[in-house]
Amino acid sequence: MDNVIGFDEDAIRLIIKHTVVTNLYSCYDWRGSKTSEGYPTIQLGGRYGPKITAHSLVCEWFNGPKPCIPSCVAMHRCNNSSCINPRHVIWGTQSENVKQSYRDGRR
Ligand SMILES: [Zn+2]
Repeated sequence: MDNVIGFDEDAIRLIIKHTVVTNLYSCYDWRGSKTSEGYPTIQLGGRYGPKITAHSLVCEWFNGPKPCIPSCVAMHRCNNSSCINPRHVIWGTQSENVKQSYRDGRR
């Protein structure tokens, strides 16, 4: 799922609606739809609109567009796949993501 959505009002509304924030620095817990791997997804423009991953969108809003297309992924530094705190999500390559997951014991 490659995001092509800018700072979109509907996307912001969906993200606010489905997110629980207990404090600024901890994980922002996603309560909406998720992929089979547990990543947060939103669907824009109704039932037939594009499905995008919310953590990638938030990463793009806070860190700018993907620096390496198409190989970059939005990596969770917190290892919580359903988190969308922009401070916890950074762009990285797929290989950096796999290395981090081994280092942090997710694999
Ligand atoms: Zn987090």
